[in-house]
Amino acid sequence: ASPAPDKIDYVFKVVVIGDSGVGKTQILSRFAKDDFCLDSKSTIGVEFQTRTITIGGKVIKAQIWDTAGQERYRAVTSAYYRGALGAMVVYDITKRQSFDHVARWVEELKIHADTSTVISLIGNKADLADSRAVPTEDAVEFAEEQGLFFSEASARSGEKVESSFLRLLEEIYKVVS
Ligand code: GDP
Repeated sequence: ASPAPDKIDYVFKVVVIGDSGVGKTQILSRFAKDDFCLDSKSTIGVEFQTRTITIGGKVIKAQIWDTAGQERYRAVTSAYYRGALGAMVVYDITKRQSFDHVARWVEELKIHADTSTVISLIGNKADLADSRAVPTEDAVEFAEEQGLFFSEASARSGEKVESSFLRLLEEIYKVVS
């Protein structure tokens, strides 16, 4: 069960970015859906979902923002990035272009977000390995160069979604605590 709202020690804003169609919304729903929360999508104008977890004995509300399609027009606003402590940059392992655009997303993030923002690179749709267009090594190399955490995951099967979010949140906790 979720703790009472008045027991929350930290709120961590995390933004999910990447090309349209890579699975951002699915990843977010997979992580947030287990939690009962009243302040998710249903509230007008609020484009995030939440999940409350405990790290180091502290109750942390992860507030995970979805672009809600803004990226289709390359019009993700600076308000979207403002105050983000963490970011997940998602590409689709079956779409080379979505990986080629990752550098741009990281650049945009660095312009708008704080320098201490923790960034994870996620190669989604790992269940479609037969149609892979992005070798794991390419992503590992890019992640190392840029200092990003990296995982391949599948929103469909759920593989690595939970662990990727938890790792990101743990790293944010190390930064803020
Ligand atoms: P967004 O535009 O980045 O938010 O992408 P969506 O979450 O809307 O997903 C785009 C499409 O990819 C949808 O048809 C999803 O069902 C599909 N999709 C998302 N994640 C996965 C995945 O892990 N595996 C597979 N096979 N399909 C996925």
